[in-house]
Amino acid sequence: MTSSSTDTPAPVLVLVPGAAGAPNDGSAPYRLADPAVPQLSITDLVATRGDGIFETIGAFDGRPINVGPHLARLARSASLLQMPAPHQETLLAAIDAAIEAHADVPELTIRVMYTRGIEGAGTPTCWIDAHVSDDWALYRRGIRVAALDRGLSTAVPETSPWLLPGAKTLSYAVNMAAVREAKRRGAQDALFVATDGYVLEGPTSTLLVRRGDTFLTTPVSAGVLPGTCVTTLFTALQDEGHEVREQLMTVADVAGSDGAWLLSSTRLAAPITHLDETELPLDLELTERFEALLSGRA
Ligand code: PLP
Repeated sequence: MTSSSTDTPAPVLVLVPGAAGAPNDGSAPYRLADPAVPQLSITDLVATRGDGIFETIGAFDGRPINVGPHLARLARSASLLQMPAPHQETLLAAIDAAIEAHADVPELTIRVMYTRGIEGAGTPTCWIDAHVSDDWALYRRGIRVAALDRGLSTAVPETSPWLLPGAKTLSYAVNMAAVREAKRRGAQDALFVATDGYVLEGPTSTLLVRRGDTFLTTPVSAGVLPGTCVTTLFTALQDEGHEVREQLMTVADVAGSDGAWLLSSTRLAAPITHLDETELPLDLELTERFEALLSGRA
């Protein structure tokens, strides 16, 4: 056994055969399973085509954050991919079961995976895994970001909805390739830029930009994922009297802003210190407040 396998609590796996409604054979809608045992069929369409959707939820001190909005977004992705609607109550109970079965840890990552299922079966395959989150401490102090051409325009939702802009699909190979390219350029993460010059989102995160007392993000209509974190922060910032809104922005707009962050549910708020070679203002106090709000520890 390696030292990490003894130090890190074991991951938890919950299989959810009832994710799109009660299973035909009358069995339980979800059950714990052994994550060390193979569970996925090689004919599952996620294995052969990358055809499926997912959500990643953060749980802090045992409390999952924004579960309702995550499951609503899963339902939205299912609808965009013309997949059966996920059964919200079953997934809620299965997520709770995964957290309950996992050792108590400060930061847990819960992935809800929902595939088109075994070829010909017409029933989604669904599982939930819970594992200790990566250590994001350094990212939360600041990241260098490389602006990368996404090769698609902000008109894609209008012109080519079959490209599935804004759906959280399991075809993330392109997103992971972008992170590798960013690292090759000496950055930690990427910011996608549309062919018409507007910034979109990170490969696994939403862009938040500060301009004076106003906080901005990319419009969902430009083809980005509707982020749960940015919604949480917008609500809090608005309550404090700040203006918040969606707005198309160029790379120069972000580089010349009063601060920018990449937001996501387990990494939380990662402030951008540099966009390519341009240094951005860094506000670690505000970043810590964002972290508290996003982790539910505020
Ligand atoms: N955009 C993309 C492409 C993502 O993959 C993610 C998170 O996984 C986000 C944005 C941020 O979403 P959330 O704030 O709900 O974690």
